Amino acid sequence: MINQKKKWVFSTDIDGTLTGDRESLNELTQCLDQDREKENLFLILCTGRTLTEVLEGQTREGIPLADAIVCQVGSEIFLPPFHVNMEGEENWGNHLKKQFSREFVVDLFHDIPFLIMQEERYNTQLKVSYTIDLASFPDKTFGSMKVLRTIQKRLSPYEDRYQIIYSSGKHLDVLPAKAGKGNAVRYLIKYFGLSMNRLVVAGDSGNDCSMFIPEAKGIVVNNAQQELITFAKKLTPHTVYFSSVPFAAGVLAGLKYFGMCQE
Ligand SMILES: [Mg+2]
Repeated sequence: MINQKKKWVFSTDIDGTLTGDRESLNELTQCLDQDREKENLFLILCTGRTLTEVLEGQTREGIPLADAIVCQVGSEIFLPPFHVNMEGEENWGNHLKKQFSREFVVDLFHDIPFLIMQEERYNTQLKVSYTIDLASFPDKTFGSMKVLRTIQKRLSPYEDRYQIIYSSGKHLDVLPAKAGKGNAVRYLIKYFGLSMNRLVVAGDSGNDCSMFIPEAKGIVVNNAQQELITFAKKLTPHTVYFSSVPFAAGVLAGLKYFGMCQE
């Protein structure tokens, strides 16, 4: 019987964290596969993608196989065996459904200019996803910040049920307050009897911030967005590794720094 508490738990974002440099990703995937074979590692892919996009990425983009997949920015959890069109983990879905109304969110923000609804596949009963239309602003940062502040203000009376996740300077997701990548990772650690103290996380943008929970060791890749860099700089210094290299090479350097992928 494998002692789950002794396993490393590695939770990683996909786009801009694993992807971006295929050669380094192959090297990283090989090392993660080996650690999983030795039953040393529980791997969580934690992404804004849909499950179909993750599974396609595993065959076409060299994304590693995983023990759990968290999709749609932490509003869906999938457990093996994975297949397209499978249902998400039921308890997680039920737990989130209680506090979230998609119709309420859409109605609350319907008159805010510059907010464009993202494609249908990123809009579910548990997630409302917008893009801030940057083309409309002469000063991009100022413009998107102004929209963000308007939305935060409007949602603030309801923050016990809803949260806003702002990423890559333009993506805006409204999720149940209990969803998000960090909450999904906590749920999985408890569900599988893993140890929070063996958790390493990696990311590149604002929707990864919630994974950098106090017990975790964090890896920020060199190509990370400012939102994540600013957030991670406020955390306890020795718990965060700011990589000097981008994408999967940055992840691999971080894992080695924290004692994983040691051959
Ligand atoms: Mg990313």
